[in-house]
Amino acid sequence: MKIEFKKVGFNKKEITISKQKLSLSGDLQRSKRDLVDFDAKLQGRVQVECSRCGKEFEVDIDEDLKLRLSDGVYRGFDDDADVIEFYDGSIDMEQILDSEKASIQTDYHLCTECKEGENDGST
Ligand SMILES: [Zn+2]
Repeated sequence: MKIEFKKVGFNKKEITISKQKLSLSGDLQRSKRDLVDFDAKLQGRVQVECSRCGKEFEVDIDEDLKLRLSDGVYRGFDDDADVIEFYDGSIDMEQILDSEKASIQTDYHLCTECKEGENDGST
């Protein structure tokens, strides 16, 4: 799903997208000429790999996201929000969902068995 930057105004626009088991929903709102704020919630399940044994398993996701979407190259500086740049004048919601999913997958995860092994202190 793509949304043109010029169609996002200063009033909040509610948006929801879901793909496989993950859904992203929130409000798009223009904050500056080339910037759109996206306060969203990411919910669902993501398949990840155990960092220790490599076993695949699913984790529950329920995260608040604060994203800033830039129409073209972003020249400012931000430490309170993640900035995502789009170069064709439109916001690609699927790309946002995919990149959030990818960042979850590169996090450190332990499957139940490895977690238990860690907690009993017998290593
Ligand atoms: Zn494991």
